[in-house]
Amino acid sequence: MTPHASGQRGLPEHLPDPLPIDVVDNHVHLDITREGDEPFDVADAIKQARAVGVTRLVQVGCDLDGIAFTMDAIERHPELVGGIALHPNEVPRLAAAGTLETAYATVERHAAHDRVRVIGETGLDYFRTGPEGVPVQQDGFRWHIDLAKRLGKALQIHDRDAHDDVLRILEEEGAPEHTVLHCFSGDLAMARVCVERGYYLSFAGTVTFKNARDLRDALTAIPLERVLVETDAPYLAPAPHRGATNASFLVPVTIRAMAGVLNIDVPSLCRAVSENSERVYGPWSAERVGQTA
Ligand SMILES: [Zn+2]
Repeated sequence: MTPHASGQRGLPEHLPDPLPIDVVDNHVHLDITREGDEPFDVADAIKQARAVGVTRLVQVGCDLDGIAFTMDAIERHPELVGGIALHPNEVPRLAAAGTLETAYATVERHAAHDRVRVIGETGLDYFRTGPEGVPVQQDGFRWHIDLAKRLGKALQIHDRDAHDDVLRILEEEGAPEHTVLHCFSGDLAMARVCVERGYYLSFAGTVTFKNARDLRDALTAIPLERVLVETDAPYLAPAPHRGATNASFLVPVTIRAMAGVLNIDVPSLCRAVSENSERVYGPWSAERVGQTA
């Protein structure tokens, strides 16, 4: 148990016990600062994560500032690979401002970088964007699917209150080889459809929430080879830290809860998450990232 620096609200005073086998945080936003927080110090965030066995992270930048941040961070830190896209809530804003095409050109230019392994998060958000934004959001989703396929990158999908349309559009366009439902929020039936189609489900701290029975049911019903784990930090801290600022060093809390739900030992789940992540995103730079800090 190591004390850590804190400019964030409500974080636990000590790091969780380290995981027995190193894992990947499949989705984190080191560029995003919640109101009232200090910005993440990237090197510190990585160091704290590594101290508990979270040795590799997928840093996701999904607006133009976030993309610039991501491109810089993946150059500096071998523990990071990048995901870039225009978020489904961002696409209608850019379209209204008349700058969507320029923004697409920026995504496309950076997406070719070897350490950008993910196009995402893209998808549909019917919670924050009203009906007037739906057509442009759907076009944006199709554009990102096509980009991922052209470049041979994984796709990470944001799906908020839009399960049916997400599944339909993926089917219509043809999903990329490696397609991940980030922060999976569907039920058992949807999980089964995703698995049949070969998609991966990434579970966030939400799987630990008391009212998330559907998510736990979904988790128990899918093969271990399709399971990923993420924080979506700074959001969605797992129970018992719900409401606090989330950080990659809390992955062990979610992993241990998931192992309990699955009724398997923690090392088996860690091994699966690690192997699945590298199958989807490719290897991190092995020599420098493999050892524990
Ligand atoms: Zn996210």
